[in-house]
Amino acid sequence: MRIEIDRDLCQVHGVCESEAPDVFVVPKRAETVTVLIEQPDEALRPQVTAAAKYCPTRAIRIIEED
Ligand code: SF4
Repeated sequence: MRIEIDRDLCQVHGVCESEAPDVFVVPKRAETVTVLIEQPDEALRPQVTAAAKYCPTRAIRIIEED
C-alpha cells in the first residue's frame, strides 16, 4: 500500500498523527502533514486505515499496489 495526501485538503488537524504516529507527523506551525513512511508495512494497516477514516478533511488516500 502507498499513502497519498491531498495537500490542498489537509488542514493539519493532526488526527492522523494520533491514529498512526509511526507514519504521520504534524510539526508545529507546519502547513501540511509529513508522511514518514509512504509505503507502510502491512502491520501498520490498521493504524493507517484509521487515520484515513478519521481525517476530518479526508485528505489521506490509501493506494493499493501489486
Ligand atoms: S488528519 Fe488529515 S487534515 Fe489532519 S493533518 Fe492528517 S491528513 Fe491533514
